[in-house]
Amino acid sequence: MNTFEAQQQGRPTGPLVRGYEVIIGFETHAQLSTASKIFSRASTAFGAEPNTQACAVDLALPGTLPVMNKGAVERAIKLGLALGSHIAPRSVFARKNYFYPDLPKGYQISQFEIPVVQGGAVSFFLGEEKKTVRLVRAHLEEDAGKSLHEDFIGQSGIDLNRAGTPLLEIVTEPDMRSTAEAVAYAKELHKIVTWIGICDGNMQEGSFRCDANVSVRKPGDKLGTRREIKNLNSFKFMQQAIDYEINSQIDELEEGRAIEQATVLFDPATGETRTMRTKEDAADYRYFPDPDLPPLVVAAEWIERVRATMPELPRATAERYVRDHGLSEYDAAQLTQGAALAQYFDDAVNAGAAPKLASNWITGEMARRLNAAEIGIEAAPVKAAQLAQLVTRIADGTLPNNAARQVFEALWSGEGSDVDAIIEAKDLKPMNDAGALDKILDEVIAKNAKNVEEYRGGKEKALNGLVGQVMKASGGKANPAQVTELLKAKLG
Ligand code: ADP
Ligand code: MG
Repeated sequence: MNTFEAQQQGRPTGPLVRGYEVIIGFETHAQLSTASKIFSRASTAFGAEPNTQACAVDLALPGTLPVMNKGAVERAIKLGLALGSHIAPRSVFARKNYFYPDLPKGYQISQFEIPVVQGGAVSFFLGEEKKTVRLVRAHLEEDAGKSLHEDFIGQSGIDLNRAGTPLLEIVTEPDMRSTAEAVAYAKELHKIVTWIGICDGNMQEGSFRCDANVSVRKPGDKLGTRREIKNLNSFKFMQQAIDYEINSQIDELEEGRAIEQATVLFDPATGETRTMRTKEDAADYRYFPDPDLPPLVVAAEWIERVRATMPELPRATAERYVRDHGLSEYDAAQLTQGAALAQYFDDAVNAGAAPKLASNWITGEMARRLNAAEIGIEAAPVKAAQLAQLVTRIADGTLPNNAARQVFEALWSGEGSDVDAIIEAKDLKPMNDAGALDKILDEVIAKNAKNVEEYRGGKEKALNGLVGQVMKASGGKANPAQVTELLKAKLG
């Protein structure tokens, strides 16, 4: 029994697919949000003209030497602290040797035998069920450049702007048991790295890329041979690619063929994965410690200094919402889906919003609008202070629901910016002229004799129709609770 076999004993079995158990392990490359590269001072900014951000070190000119970027190490420490990992007091950089045009040195500097972050775990909910995926390690390394294939002129070019960009490769144990669990893990990890500010999380730009290792086996069998799907850069493709891979492996096995270990690419156009190369072993890379870099020493004081800069983590924030604001676990989880969203809620509450109402508006109307507009909360046209103002006017009885939605709409569309001014301009003040309301009540009662009769005959529901009529006649400005009371009083 190998190490993985031993580690997998006692792990829960996942849902079977066509009679097979699915095993998934992830390797994720998170691009660290430093301004300069991991071993040089060139900029890491995305989208520059090719080769304008590649300095002599990145080009591997003779005589250049790498110098470790402290900011990259600090970000690795932050991840380790967030995930309960061991931070190695001494870790080592190694050369991973291979030839490729976008790798001028002929080797990639990475960490091999002793990574800076060791162990730890990512926990999350899959539906009601709590899942914990254990990490093997997270190691620092440099990114390679990019080959650009200019089909229209039939040429390829190399852009070395990305060469030397700092990456943290986060490796899990093969602990996931379904596509849904794998995607939920990736989303949770994405949330954590962006929450603690070590990675911008931009998947289109390649700042967060996942490799999914997938195998299947009959329950009780030893682990199957895995195939690795490279560079998944959207959660949707991730789900499609893993599902496809699971089914094609099962097809192979059912037809009596063995799975060959391989690295595959997902093609979103066909929804299929295809083999890029049959997998090489670590031995093929002739790893050895990089003589140009001393071991990375992380003193306990350094860890403590980094710890002092850590934000409250999502789980702790959610617990605070439940404890201090009386929110449900579900609402607290919704509001802590991202750091910016939680910040928005905190800002609204600090500006005087009743927490429960603010939560309802943020996870309801606001979330719907953000989804429809495909923007994040940072770009929401309704600011936290404005939402607080709106919520306050709902809480003090000024705005019934319907009117509140009109105010939100006005804020969202930029028609107005001050809640009270919008209420004034749109004449949304509730009807507090007792005489006018009384008149409406009498008219509605007179016109709806059938409802009145039914209500008096004991049919409580008939009252709803009358309340609706009054609300309509008041242009939505009457308070439904008050109308109900007044009607009951009048009808005896
Ligand atoms: P390598 O060193 O060849 O990259 P590792 O042992 O580091 O291989 O494993 C790489 C990834 O593959 C890890 O995330 C691990 O959890 C996962 N993995 C290993 N074996 C399996 C398997 N049989 N099925 C699915 N995933 C696996
Ligand atoms: Mg590996």
